[in-house]
Amino acid sequence: MSEPTTDAPVLIAGAGPVGMTTALALHARGVESTILERDPEDRDRSGSRAIYVHGSTLRTLERIHPGLGTDLVDEGLVWPTRHTRWRGKQVFRRTYDSPGGSGDIPHFTSLPQVVTEEYMHEAVAEAGIDIHWEAEVDTVDSSSDGVTVETTDGREWNGEYLVGADGGGSQVRNEIGANFEGDQSENSFIIADIEDPDEDPLPLERLFHYDAPETDGRNVLLVPFEGGWRLDIQCFEDDDPEALTEDGRMREFVRDVMGEAYVDHITWVSTYKFLQVMADSFVDEHRRVLLAGEAAHLLAPFGARGMNSGIADADEAASAIAVAVDARTDAVARDEVELYAARREKAAEFNLNAAGQALEYLQGDDPVTVLRKEAAASLADHFESAGEWLDDAPYGPHGTPPIVSTGNY
Ligand SMILES: Cc1cc2nc3c(=O)[nH]c(=O)nc-3n(C[C@H](O)[C@H](O)[C@H](O)COP(=O)(O)OP(=O)(O)OC[C@H]3O[C@@H](n4cnc5c(N)ncnc54)[C@H](O)[C@@H]3O)c2cc1C
Repeated sequence: MSEPTTDAPVLIAGAGPVGMTTALALHARGVESTILERDPEDRDRSGSRAIYVHGSTLRTLERIHPGLGTDLVDEGLVWPTRHTRWRGKQVFRRTYDSPGGSGDIPHFTSLPQVVTEEYMHEAVAEAGIDIHWEAEVDTVDSSSDGVTVETTDGREWNGEYLVGADGGGSQVRNEIGANFEGDQSENSFIIADIEDPDEDPLPLERLFHYDAPETDGRNVLLVPFEGGWRLDIQCFEDDDPEALTEDGRMREFVRDVMGEAYVDHITWVSTYKFLQVMADSFVDEHRRVLLAGEAAHLLAPFGARGMNSGIADADEAASAIAVAVDARTDAVARDEVELYAARREKAAEFNLNAAGQALEYLQGDDPVTVLRKEAAASLADHFESAGEWLDDAPYGPHGTPPIVSTGNY
């Protein structure tokens, strides 16, 4: 066939945040990789995606590429106030003097995914890692000796390991015969990004409004990020999301929720039904192919676990592969990959459960939950803890992560 396409022992499908993090995490461990990306280099990655980056993610990025985590901190925004309303009335509001905590890396930061990816790109270039653009993975053949990938342009790529970080529609997942299992949110959600206007800025706070009068009783979540705001409106079950996102109606929503100053600053509107699924296996039968990020799991965004947990997958996949490529016995190499799968499948279950609980809480009609919400709202004037419960409940997770070895989930 064609001449050798790469000497790198590890192939990565996808130059999204998870693929790029995998490459950086391998490089930090002394293992070279090459990235195969379907899109052209001048692609447009704008759109409403991850804005909330957890402190653990920032620490991972800083550890594998010094300066990357702190660059994102410099670019991001740490909002100081949590605010919750119930049918037009404030039930909880708390402002923190030091919302990010002390130290170089805050508890979280908020910035558009497209900016996060730009910094990852720069880091990948600095590390001398190749991204092959317009190299769409078509077929994957693995054996106990390694992996052969064919891209749709007919080129063949050989490696010892392959990480499938090619997103929700992963061809790598299809090729290893793994399947998504799970379900989908009942209601649709409208997600819009709105740029900061020059005047009349809103206070920097994350607002959750239950049954907001401004949206005729739909729940509203408003989150600031550097340069703008994410507006999330939860549709009723019988809503037609397409009709609600027509230009005129969307402008009315933005005016009523955010004020006139924001109406001409809508940059992106989309509607979603969120999938809650994970692959039935994160590795192939020969333990040479590892799935990471959205190739392995898709989560509703409550709790912001999608990219954050994908970056944890990436770091752990790199850790497993770094040991496996130097292993002196096949059994040790297989064990490392199997341990990766065991850990990250557990983490995905935990994350799915957390996001699922948030979805159930938001859209379910379980009478006990409905009553608890109403009781908490009526007690919020007298007991701060009732308002705080309403403030915290829509986001997960509320339990302890299962991954004792790393604390990443
Ligand atoms: C509205 C919304 C809000 C969100 N908010 C958050 C948040 O606040 N925090 C958070 O952590 N997450 C959030 N997420 C989730 C986050 O955006 C995703 O989890 C993240 O983009 C997944 O990264 P990935 O690298 O796994 O996949 P992707 O970003 O999908 O990247 C996959 C890459 O693989 C490439 N590719 C696809 N097929 C092939 C192929 N056959 N061959 C080669 N390359 C291929 C694609 O072109 C792409 O570059 C949000 C998502 C949405 C929709």
